[in-house]
Amino acid sequence: MQRTIGIIGGGQLGLMIAEQAHLLGARCVALDPSADAPAFRVCDDHIVAAFDDAAALEELCRRSDVVTYEFENVPGELLVDLERRYNIKQGFRPLFDSQDRLREKDNARANGLRTVEYAAADDEASLDAAVAKIGCPCVVKTRTLGYDGHGQVVVRGEADMERARALLPAPLIVEQFMPFDYEASAIVVADDEREICFPVGRNIHKDGILDLCIVPCADGGMAERIADESRAFMRRCGYRGILAIEYFVRGDEIYFNEMAPRPHNSGHYTIEGCTTNQFRELCRFLLGMPLEEPRLVAPTVMKNILGCDLGAAERIAEQRLPGVYVHIYGKSVCRPLRKMGHITFVGMTPERYSAEWPDKFAR
Ligand code: AMP
Repeated sequence: MQRTIGIIGGGQLGLMIAEQAHLLGARCVALDPSADAPAFRVCDDHIVAAFDDAAALEELCRRSDVVTYEFENVPGELLVDLERRYNIKQGFRPLFDSQDRLREKDNARANGLRTVEYAAADDEASLDAAVAKIGCPCVVKTRTLGYDGHGQVVVRGEADMERARALLPAPLIVEQFMPFDYEASAIVVADDEREICFPVGRNIHKDGILDLCIVPCADGGMAERIADESRAFMRRCGYRGILAIEYFVRGDEIYFNEMAPRPHNSGHYTIEGCTTNQFRELCRFLLGMPLEEPRLVAPTVMKNILGCDLGAAERIAEQRLPGVYVHIYGKSVCRPLRKMGHITFVGMTPERYSAEWPDKFAR
């Protein structure tokens, strides 16, 4: 009988989960507060409701054989309750471990990963003490609900402290500033039998938002080391399902930065750049199918398309260039810094990308 995957969240991640679920013969139902959520165009069924609407979440579970989430801030108490009665296959734990930056870093350390030094703060006195302990430069971040660089202040001296204090009364974490060589991310999918890891990408951000993902991430053994550490972390934590882990790389040292138990923007390249992709393997896990080990098809560059570059992306799509895959998410409201799509260039090196493409985009 055809099975139904329930997705908490109807953004572009939900849209791409649903596309891959269909290719595997499953149906999808998504829940999102926005009536024109991108995933609704592709899903077989949907529910318009807030993420803290207990009755609506329960209805989603009732209409599904297995439930996943693409939105990270689902209230824990609701999910824990539903998990007892429905098949929320990844469970709440990886989400819980990732919802607070302090807990997340404690958990990373406890399970074998290195992090930068950090300290917690929740009022002016503890903030001053934490900054003094970690030293400048440091990064002050809200512990919960931060994304794409929101809720963060780099403190280089007293002059920046006023902006850091303005983040209070939210609970904060103060992190050592890491002058990394580059940022990298690994996406792992695990079931009871095995962990698979997608080829590790090098991530380039602009204004705190992912701009490019370059794969392979580096020469030599660094990508393999990151993949090995990520698989080992997944195993030690006992997580099942999908986990994206972001790292800072400096010299031959790898520092855990953050994680998300859902498909990740840096993994969009896997759709065309790998023999299987992050959305498909998540669906295979959810449907109880054996996981497939991914292989890189060719060097790949993924470019995020924000609102300011939507016109450029549409013009590129019209050219139908070989190896150039333009994804437009169909969001009804376009804002300059909103993620509206992405382009994957398969068979593209970073050198050739830098020579041929950046001047096509505003950002
Ligand atoms: P995050 O929300 O933790 O991913 O932070 C957003 C971006 O800010 C990261 O991708 C880094 O480019 C930068 N960043 C965050 N934390 C640090 C840090 N401790 N040291 C240096 N840069 C950082």
